[in-house]
Amino acid sequence: MSFQEIIGQQRAKQMLQNGLRSGKVSHAYLFAGPNGTGRKETALALAQALLCTEMTDDSCGRCLECRKVEHGNHPDVHIVAPDGASIKIEQIRALQREFAYRSGGGPKIYIMEQADKMTVQAANSLLKFLEEPQSNVVAVLITENGHAMLPTIQSRAQWVPFTPMNPGEMLQVLAGEGFPQTLARPAVHMASGIAACREIIQQNWFAEIRNVVLQLGKECHVQGNSVMVTAQQKLFKTPLAEHLDMMMSLFLLWFKDMIHYQVDRTESIVFIDQLDSIGKIAFTRTTDAWVRCMEQAADVKKRLRANANPQLAFEQFLVEMQGG
Ligand SMILES: [Zn+2]
Repeated sequence: MSFQEIIGQQRAKQMLQNGLRSGKVSHAYLFAGPNGTGRKETALALAQALLCTEMTDDSCGRCLECRKVEHGNHPDVHIVAPDGASIKIEQIRALQREFAYRSGGGPKIYIMEQADKMTVQAANSLLKFLEEPQSNVVAVLITENGHAMLPTIQSRAQWVPFTPMNPGEMLQVLAGEGFPQTLARPAVHMASGIAACREIIQQNWFAEIRNVVLQLGKECHVQGNSVMVTAQQKLFKTPLAEHLDMMMSLFLLWFKDMIHYQVDRTESIVFIDQLDSIGKIAFTRTTDAWVRCMEQAADVKKRLRANANPQLAFEQFLVEMQGG
């Protein structure tokens, strides 16, 4: 992975590449920002640039060191992630032993995912590690919330901010990569970065759940109980039932599409292949009523997080939708 391959995040890339060019690489970085904004990819790009024998502020992708990093088997690049719910002191100690054993030679990089999940003991042990004058160790701590880290770690690390990309930009990139509009359009509203979008689109259930939302969204407008039958057969009797939260997010976008249609902002419509159906349904309710639908969908999400019975919460939502 080279810096060039990372989409967006100009500020983060600039900070890191300036450091590489001027030989002022920090011993600890705090990569702070939402999931899916390319934090891990950037950490790997930094590792590769540090180890590459051909380039200074990026990597060539061809030398032996580069290839080892790309294959995930470079002995001087370690990735640490929570073991269960937390990153434990044993994991930090193992890392320290590993680096002590391989002391000397070139730079050593460890990348810690969800670094805010370190136990206090682990964080204190890491802190001692950071304070040792091991000039060739670089730590990259990845977190969604830099302020959740111990203040002593925050102050010893250089902050590198990762920012969400806007949906329009992401859509352009995904279209360039050949992803279908029907899936890319909803995905960019549910993730704050390209990597997270790709991950959503590539889930094989994403297209299916989108279809179920469209079917239910349309059936809410016809009399009878077909909507409940559909919910039973296509949702609760299938593995899709596990993705109810995602489903509610899609419902939110569906309702919002109705408002976009009402105010003639078709370019903003997410379910762009459904323009005919949206045209038929959009004016069956007032804008205020669609806003209430959105609130109800958001409310189901909230109830799911509070461990409400998913089927009950969803069926109540459908009843309310049908009631108009
Ligand atoms: Zn190289």
